[in-house]
Amino acid sequence: MKILLLGKNGQVGWELQRSLAPLGELIALDRQTIDGLCGDLANLSALRDTIDQVRPDVIVNAAAYNAVDKAESESELALRVNGQAIQVMAEEAVRLGAWLVHYSTDYVFDGKGQTPWQESDVPAPLNRYGESKLAGEMAIQASGCKHLIFRTSWVFAARGQNFAKTMLRLARERQELNVINDQVGAPTGAELIADVTALALQQALTRPELAGLYHLAAAGEVSWHGYARHVLDFAKASGEELAVQMINPIDAVAYPTPARRPLNSRLNTQKLRTNFSLHLPDWQSGVTRMLREVLNK
Ligand code: NDP
Repeated sequence: MKILLLGKNGQVGWELQRSLAPLGELIALDRQTIDGLCGDLANLSALRDTIDQVRPDVIVNAAAYNAVDKAESESELALRVNGQAIQVMAEEAVRLGAWLVHYSTDYVFDGKGQTPWQESDVPAPLNRYGESKLAGEMAIQASGCKHLIFRTSWVFAARGQNFAKTMLRLARERQELNVINDQVGAPTGAELIADVTALALQQALTRPELAGLYHLAAAGEVSWHGYARHVLDFAKASGEELAVQMINPIDAVAYPTPARRPLNSRLNTQKLRTNFSLHLPDWQSGVTRMLREVLNK
């Protein structure tokens, strides 16, 4: 079996290089062109040619335009990478009879209420990034290709940039931090996402009726403020020297950003756990593991 992985150097892409390796021959690309293969999602014709050349049995796309605030002013590029490129992948997957595995986000929802979102809930993105990711989902669903779409949230990894690592850096520099306390979700490790992807894909290959849209997030919930406290408490207890004395909870309205973000990012993962008989560990266990790696503890 031949697997084409796009976005191999992102948080999730890096972990997928590990978790997909035992499933088949892996051709992993980033946005560079190597040996005539181009993984730049902004170059739609080169992307199509690349899929044509590789003729994969499975396309796994971990590449995305993820700059949520910048997408407000670069909406055309965000839509090309997160929407039109996904349509190209879906069309090629149909033509080749290949599977397409793709990732989306809790940001397709408007964040109203406090109930964890189900796959059947109606999306209503608040920002351009969310709109572009929803366009990608819809292109896959409309194409009729065999697919797995995993909506995830608040991704972290030891490698790459994320909220936890930003908090560690700021806590070394500043005595006081203000962190949003009214947006709630589940920090989800790239390792977990990659492992679940491999396990689910292996089952779906022999049971195509498992194809579809799934919510994939670690168990439990926390605000950004609670998440920051968890990270910094762990760092302090591990002997890290931090300047920070106060971590103040603030409301999102007190921290205006170009893109609006949902308050309720909770994802209901029942469908994934039931259909694939999987267990999703709590967010703390993944974060602790990542911190041990980052802090070398
Ligand atoms: P990262 O930002 O860590 O990685 C994204 C990768 O995509 C990077 O390697 C980046 O390359 C690459 N990329 C960006 N633009 C292009 C392009 N035009 N062509 C090819 N590659 C490109 O993302 P994650 O691993 O965290 O995200 C994985 C998936 O999960 C994405 O679909 C994302 O939308 C989704 N998701 C992520 C969340 C998060 O908190 N990070 C939350 C919810 C969902 P480069 O470094 O060169 O820019």
